[in-house]
Amino acid sequence: MNTHELIEFDHKHIWHPYSSATRSIDSLVVKKGKGVYFELEDGQMLIDGMSSWWSIIHGYNHPVLNEALQQQVRDMAHVMFGGLTHRPAITLAKTLLKIVPKGLDYIFYCDSGSVAVEVAMKMALQYWHARNNPTKNRFVTISRGYYGDTWHAMSVCDPETGMHHIFNNKLPQQFFLPAPESGFSDEFNPEEIDRVEALLAKESNHIAAFILEPIVQGAGGMRFYHPDYLKAVRELCVRYDILLIADEIATGFGRTGKLFACEHANISPDILCIGKAMTGGYLSFAATLCSNQVAKTISDAFPGVFMHGPTFMGNPLACAVAQASINLLLENNWQENIARIEEHLKNTLSELEELDAVKAVRVLGAIGVVEMEKPVDMKVIQKEFQRHGIWMRPFGKLVYTMPPFVITNEELSKLTTGICQTIKELYAKKALN
Ligand SMILES: *Cc1c(COP(=O)(O)O)cnc(C)c1O
Repeated sequence: MNTHELIEFDHKHIWHPYSSATRSIDSLVVKKGKGVYFELEDGQMLIDGMSSWWSIIHGYNHPVLNEALQQQVRDMAHVMFGGLTHRPAITLAKTLLKIVPKGLDYIFYCDSGSVAVEVAMKMALQYWHARNNPTKNRFVTISRGYYGDTWHAMSVCDPETGMHHIFNNKLPQQFFLPAPESGFSDEFNPEEIDRVEALLAKESNHIAAFILEPIVQGAGGMRFYHPDYLKAVRELCVRYDILLIADEIATGFGRTGKLFACEHANISPDILCIGKAMTGGYLSFAATLCSNQVAKTISDAFPGVFMHGPTFMGNPLACAVAQASINLLLENNWQENIARIEEHLKNTLSELEELDAVKAVRVLGAIGVVEMEKPVDMKVIQKEFQRHGIWMRPFGKLVYTMPPFVITNEELSKLTTGICQTIKELYAKKALN
């Protein structure tokens, strides 16, 4: 098939994320990747400004990660996890337990981020069942969140952007607090917490857990909120006997400048979800971690087991590549490196603030966000980005980048120049309002 035929078949028969079967935008056909670039069928090289949705932190086709997979595949690609265990799963667990916020002692390996969230929510429900408190069966969250696309994960996603109404009220009804308002480096407004406390005080008998994305609300708005908010939520959850679930699927493994975003507030959740960058973007893999107390409580009461067990749980290939990816991260001065990227994003993207089509520019760690006043025309802006040699996937009013950590200063300049020029050119052509 030539490129045209590939696209045509794709168009006719293959779903893409959040896509229409009848009005999809032509997808670009990617042939291979190397470092921060991927190459299209026609030979064009694009810098991946999205890290394939937060995941390929070490870039494409990394020799160390390739080798880890190849070694593991020679031993075994997969084996069931029921009644069996293996070195890759154990070694990885040991590594993870050392680097996650303290107080998390048990790991549940799962297939994807959404499943990790589903597992976390099931853990919370089973925990209260075990404690003979079955009315504590709902969840509280903050608006503008994103937790994945499976059923319960979706029920805590922002009701508007998640379009809850099209699911005919079949989604479990959860409690929604307003999204945190004080920005990451603003002064914190303690009144924000009053609303949180009022809800928890009133409904704690019905709340199993508080679920949130710590510090960075990703796909629901690319917002960075104040660490004091997270700290206060942690304290209130203790006071009102509510579990805290932190979804670090996007933020984990260094992205925000800390290994895990919870560290910005110096807190530990009772349950933690990780995924995305865990395998360096090589395989779909995730994990749900919990405290000893949660694990023991679930296990000591009827039915005495945690009711979940995916077919590909603890997949050895995924464990091996995750282990190699974490080693790479920890061995390579990641903190200095993220600070370098952060500095660059701040210095370059801030020039867009002067355009009246731009509402705000914000940067945290290796995440740069340009929030526009109006939604961008994805088809138009993506063409322009491509012309500048970069791959970006804005949504709504948000043009944002989270580049691979291996990006050099020169590549970063190409990326940020591409972003700034594209926006300025479209602005000059009045294509942004
Ligand atoms: C991407 C994401 C998920 C869902 O992960 P999948 O692997 O796509 O299922 C959940 N929570 C957050 C914060 C995410 O960014």
